[in-house]
Amino acid sequence: MTPDEFRRLGHRIIDWIGDYRETIESRPVAPPTSPGEVRKALPASPPELGESLDGMLHDLDQLIAPNLVHWQHPRFFGYFPGNASLESVLGDFLSSGLGVVGLSWQAAPALAEVEEVVTDWVRQAIGLSGAWQGVIHDTASTATLVALLCARERSSGFGLARGGMQAEPHPLVVYASAQSHSSVDKAALLAGFGRENVHLVPCDESHAMLPDALDAAMRADRDAGRVPCAVVATTGTTATTAFDPIDSIVTVARTHGAWVHVDGAMAGSAMILPECRPLWEGVERADSVVLNPHKWLGVVFDASLFYVRDGEHLVRVMGTNPSYLQSAVDGEVRNLRDWGIPLGRRFRALKLWALLRGQGLEALRSRLRRDLDNAQWLARQVEATPGWRVVVPVRLQTVCVRHEPPGMEADALDAHARALCDAINRSGVAYLTAASVNGEWIARVSIGAEMTEREHVATLWEAMRAEAAKP
Ligand SMILES: *Cc1c(COP(=O)(O)O)cnc(C)c1O
Repeated sequence: MTPDEFRRLGHRIIDWIGDYRETIESRPVAPPTSPGEVRKALPASPPELGESLDGMLHDLDQLIAPNLVHWQHPRFFGYFPGNASLESVLGDFLSSGLGVVGLSWQAAPALAEVEEVVTDWVRQAIGLSGAWQGVIHDTASTATLVALLCARERSSGFGLARGGMQAEPHPLVVYASAQSHSSVDKAALLAGFGRENVHLVPCDESHAMLPDALDAAMRADRDAGRVPCAVVATTGTTATTAFDPIDSIVTVARTHGAWVHVDGAMAGSAMILPECRPLWEGVERADSVVLNPHKWLGVVFDASLFYVRDGEHLVRVMGTNPSYLQSAVDGEVRNLRDWGIPLGRRFRALKLWALLRGQGLEALRSRLRRDLDNAQWLARQVEATPGWRVVVPVRLQTVCVRHEPPGMEADALDAHARALCDAINRSGVAYLTAASVNGEWIARVSIGAEMTEREHVATLWEAMRAEAAKP
């Protein structure tokens, strides 16, 4: 493709995206796609001869877009807000268009330094002190894996330089609450801790980890010859957006010498609001933090921020220094390959940079506050309606709702909750996720798509009541 052809098709594609966003509300939020449908409509083998890419736009209209759940739709209330603000989309295009690879500072100096600056901007925006240093990973799953690797090496006195986990005389243990994200479990298994050494700590009725139970578990492990190594505390759990008491957890973890990693993948974005920061009180005393600007904040997937207090330790765990990557300035610069797992690095910082420059913190704060208000509004409507219940207190933007018609048995109520979500999703009017909370199925309404205004939440609530009333 020549740059000239690129311009022609590129403009059309930008127009296509503009039209898509402008008219997205007229689409059903979710498609009725059945498994294999898209695959069957595509050629089974690759083209021998190149073709004009114009046809791609046709396929986009006919085949791709109609078979997607529209996450940017104002009536998308599923999973979590996965906002892709258009500023960040442009930043992402630039990253692709530049096509540079940040193997080292030398290989792409501005890539490394813009990343350093924007991670520091976000650090300030969420109220972390200057003691923290940040780096961009693809996802929170990766960041949590890196955190557990750091913890492992701290507890084992750099066992990786010897026989690794296989030579440890005492098993190292990771703790997380029973409400923690599946990525924590996965990270612990990948980091070699083993299933038997991942201990789930009980929660209180608000789904927050019980620090006393953590202390008891750590003591029991010590007595049994195991070593408490790391605790993952969650700021905003997946099912109900619950908050582990970080300050107390750190106090317990410190007496046992364990690393504390804060998983704020979803709710970390809320910390740009000073009024939300009490929810992660004590975070300054933790060892590492992850948050996903690719969720509520608005950076197009993927961009996950990982902060550590001891950057030197991280680099010691992750660093490699083969001769072909060494340079004369290594002592003065950050080589981001030594801050995580992959060697190659996209210019992900550009999309974060574009969002922050284009919108500014004021606009981001007011959008998040709008969503918090909308969640409180929905909770009030639900509470005021007979037969309906808000299942757990609304801490941020997730509202867990259950419809309980009088006289219905527990099993039937569960089936009723799931059927309600399925019916809403099939209708195309809105999209939400069913979840099991305290052993009960509920409708989980996650508010916070960039375009979602009060009227969209009201439409969802109307649709939920109408569905529930059907015989
Ligand atoms: C979304 C989420 C994750 C996983 O995030 P990825 O970036 O998709 O790996 C982990 N923990 C919590 C609390 C989350 O909300």
